[in-house]
Amino acid sequence: MMLHPEIESLDRDAIKALQTRKLTDLGDRLAASPEWCEHFAAVGMQPGDLAAADGLANAPTLEKSDLRPRYPFPMLTVETSRVARFFATSGTTGLPVLFGFTHRDLRQLLAVQVARALYCLGVRPGERAYQGYGYGLWIGGPGHDLGLEELGATCFPVGPGRAELVVQWMRDQAWEVAVASPLFLAHLVGVARDHGIDPKTDWRLRHAVCGGQSISRAFREQLEAEMPAGFRAHNSYGTTESGGPNLGISCPHAHDRDEMHLINEDTVITEILDPDTLKPVGPGEVGEVVVTTLDKEASPVVRWRTRDLVRMGDKPYDCECGRRGLPTIGRIIGRSDDMLKVRGVLVFPSQVEDVIAGTPGTVKEAWQIYVDTTDGPPRTMTVAIECETGFQGGPSDLADTVARSLSSRLGLKVPVECHPQGSLPRYEAKAQRVLVKEQP
Ligand SMILES: [Zn+2]
Repeated sequence: MMLHPEIESLDRDAIKALQTRKLTDLGDRLAASPEWCEHFAAVGMQPGDLAAADGLANAPTLEKSDLRPRYPFPMLTVETSRVARFFATSGTTGLPVLFGFTHRDLRQLLAVQVARALYCLGVRPGERAYQGYGYGLWIGGPGHDLGLEELGATCFPVGPGRAELVVQWMRDQAWEVAVASPLFLAHLVGVARDHGIDPKTDWRLRHAVCGGQSISRAFREQLEAEMPAGFRAHNSYGTTESGGPNLGISCPHAHDRDEMHLINEDTVITEILDPDTLKPVGPGEVGEVVVTTLDKEASPVVRWRTRDLVRMGDKPYDCECGRRGLPTIGRIIGRSDDMLKVRGVLVFPSQVEDVIAGTPGTVKEAWQIYVDTTDGPPRTMTVAIECETGFQGGPSDLADTVARSLSSRLGLKVPVECHPQGSLPRYEAKAQRVLVKEQP
């Protein structure tokens, strides 16, 4: 079932041909921007070179350090008077970087991209949707509002928080869709129980759209087991720079394999590249997501380095749903920035999450990695977990179990400390899993 079969059923060659035509147009548009000409000139190219067969593969990549010196409206390409709305990246250091969206970028591009993604996972017109992502400068909330509206769903834009209200309205208004961080959904299940509401029988939820951070398969399966029969928690992926929550979404088949389709390849090109060589990786291999917006009027990007690492599907062009031109990727493994090198061993926070999610007795949404420094390789790393209230085993046994699993998964001995349920930080949006803490 496709919202745009004229695009979604194209084969890979037809999608490639479409991308090539649009790259030529993009080059023409960028050629009118002195900033973009300067950016291409740094590698001896001009924007018009994007029309060549290997134009994109040779084009310069773009990252935050290219944008910061062009404060306050970097690489904008249209007059600010034509920008309907600015969004910003959720950077943890320095001032947020602004990305402009024209009226067309919002209504005819982002709205359509998100509507396609929602339909792909199973949302249908007329369904009731709780929108739990944040508003303001972050694109997560407004981006999903636009997509739900375009699709003809009914949106309840509650935003983050207000858990007690949400768990009641979820029941009383029979919401069928939840757009929220998976951690917050897990939190809602607990709040519902505290209020005598059983999500399994009192809610009507059919789908969750889980972006913001990726969730492990074990975490997802546990969440699904606590919800009404048939409920599916779908991974979704996008960034401010790509134009919103518009890159990855699972169809029901891809969901079973823990994969997502690159659902908008006709309007955003996603390359999966080796972070060191910038050469494309093959099926089953891990690379960095690098995006190029084809249709965006304001703040387009060419080869934006997201720093997000992902594994290409083993058979990326073979999904049973028929979207053969829209390849599949795994869930986001982590950020190349978050990657820790501890005593010579590479550690991704998502590996730690997998172990915790797969260990009975732990609180799945509450865990931290403590290191002595994030300025260079840490010398020490400690994992902190919580023990579920009422867990039969003792906290020190639980810590030992997790430590043993981490050791075999990472090839590294890591001390594990176990705290009572409710002691560690909770995050509504993007969790900060690695914190600097002096070791005793
Ligand atoms: Zn599919």
